[in-house]
Amino acid sequence: KNEQRGTFSFFEAGMDARAQSRRKIEIDLRDAIQNDVLRPYYQPLIDLSTGRITGFEALVRWPHAERGMISPAEFIPVAEDTGLINALGGLMLRRACMDAAIWPDEVRVAVNLSPLQFRGGNLLSVVMDALKQSGLPPKRLELEITETLLLEKSSQVLATLHALRALGVRISMDDFGTGYSSLSYLRSFPFDKIKIDQSFVRDLGANPDAQAIVRSIISLGMGLGVTITAEGVETEAELSCLRSEGCHEGQGFLFSRARPNVEIVGLLKAQCGVDSVALGDATEEA
Ligand code: C2E
Ligand code: MG
Ligand code: MG
Ligand code: MG
Repeated sequence: KNEQRGTFSFFEAGMDARAQSRRKIEIDLRDAIQNDVLRPYYQPLIDLSTGRITGFEALVRWPHAERGMISPAEFIPVAEDTGLINALGGLMLRRACMDAAIWPDEVRVAVNLSPLQFRGGNLLSVVMDALKQSGLPPKRLELEITETLLLEKSSQVLATLHALRALGVRISMDDFGTGYSSLSYLRSFPFDKIKIDQSFVRDLGANPDAQAIVRSIISLGMGLGVTITAEGVETEAELSCLRSEGCHEGQGFLFSRARPNVEIVGLLKAQCGVDSVALGDATEEA
């Protein structure tokens, strides 16, 4: 069949299995972007002192025709290697801002940015357009960056971060503690929130080392005057430890998995105060 021959020609002789599978992801991803198949799912961020939802993190989901949901861990690296990350990142920003614009006014949306989106030079205008088209107030948008961005020590990156913040957008440091940034970088970069990586949250309550690390990240964050969010909260033991350490916010399967936008409005309506466990019956996201 034509189709098979066409498909075959994409693969060069000598490509190993891994390269072939990445090539297939690239081809399908290009298609998925063109056909507007990618969607943000939203995972709540919970204020640990009140149990209320303060916002949602937008996480890209790709319902693949043959494979079901494919994990971003698998296709984000491919998107970064092929330049597709700019289109993907742009569409996530636009859609997340549109969705969040109809949520209650105090509820924020957080969108992940790849370091590569800072290279193209037009990130600022992509963000401004997304805000303008959706009508979302800038203070309700958070942009999540990782420490790898800071490693570049680029003045262009720094200027873009300052310009974003001047719009009123917040900057969050994602996966904190897993990168290589030194504390001196932290001082020179403007940001509003630290998200403690889930690897440190794991074992909290059981492992004194994990608790010591989390405690020092929290005191660092408090010293810098930023909000501290714990990622990957799965158990009540982790939650109570984080609360006793004074962590501001939590995110994790204990509260909810990421859910499609249609479920978010209902979730916000049901928001009823201190009982965070009200969110507990997290449905599978597949
Ligand atoms: P991240 O930004 O650190 O997002 C948190 C990840 O942890 C999400 O995985 C989320 O589903 C998962 N998670 C949340 N709570 C728990 C928990 O209690 N336990 C465990 N084990 N995991 C939990 P997901 O959605 O698979 O995304 C993985 C990574 O892919 C994200 O990590 C982010 O780095 C990247 N990503 C996702 N969406 C986008 C996007 O739109 N743009 C970019 N550039 N990267 C994205
Ligand atoms: Mg994130
Ligand atoms: Mg993270
Ligand atoms: Mg992560």
